[in-house]
Amino acid sequence: MTAIVTRFAPSPTGLLHLGHAYSALFAWDTAQRAGGRFLLRIEDIDQGRCRPEFEAAIFEDLAWLGLDWEKPVRRQSEHMADYAAALARLDGEGLIYPCFCTRKEIAESTRAPHGPALHNQEGPRYPGTCRALDPHERADRLARGDAHALRLDMAKALARVASPLVWHDRAKGRVVAHPEQLGDVVLARKDTPTSYHLSVTVDDAHQGVTLVTRGQDLFHATDVHRLLQALLDLPTPEYHHHDLLVDGAGRRLAKRHRDDTIAMLRKRGVTPDQVRARVARHPKAALV
Ligand code: GLU
Repeated sequence: MTAIVTRFAPSPTGLLHLGHAYSALFAWDTAQRAGGRFLLRIEDIDQGRCRPEFEAAIFEDLAWLGLDWEKPVRRQSEHMADYAAALARLDGEGLIYPCFCTRKEIAESTRAPHGPALHNQEGPRYPGTCRALDPHERADRLARGDAHALRLDMAKALARVASPLVWHDRAKGRVVAHPEQLGDVVLARKDTPTSYHLSVTVDDAHQGVTLVTRGQDLFHATDVHRLLQALLDLPTPEYHHHDLLVDGAGRRLAKRHRDDTIAMLRKRGVTPDQVRARVARHPKAALV
């Protein structure tokens, strides 16, 4: 049996908080228990929001928690060629199209509630406006250099792969993927030539990750990743989506809760063992 490989993949857009500690420890402990490997990946495709000081803080906080990881750490910003190659392949198969819509236009055209509240990092489900663009207009706008994202043509993509698309979650068991629920997801953003979905899928495969552990909020994103794996001939890892840490009032811990950053807890004299105890007693206990 091959040893498992897990990873923790934070974005250096802010300080890590307790929820991140939970996720990181979850991946690390799972690898330790199985005698496997643990990787840390820096998801810094959003160069407008990522900061070197937050990356430094990630290393410091995780080391303080008692974690170690293999070096060198993979930084997504250093691997744009890998994402470009994946995009070129999908483009060659006619599965992506440029989308010139602004956020505002998309928000206006999707005002009606759309099915379940899916975590789609691009915002509301896209109605497909630019998929139906007249080819001449599309060519003109590209020639003019109009800013555009690249979206996956979900219907075409699904027609290309064998169904059902299945993946396995350690908590939920067999899952049949329904990526169409997320619509024509963005594979390259206007401001950066890749997206969360594309880079995470390419990287997990590239790094030989065999078990992706992450929060429940990304459960439905896995359906898209499963589809991309099928389209790009990448292996499908096993998944374990864990519950999300909440505060005493049942609210999800998020970066905006400044008091819950690891750095702040450390400053208040909280020990790594206390952080471990807190996340082990999740979700309701309050921290010291
Ligand atoms: N960079 C992502 C985040 O911080 C990680 C997603 C994942 O683990 O796949 O939400």
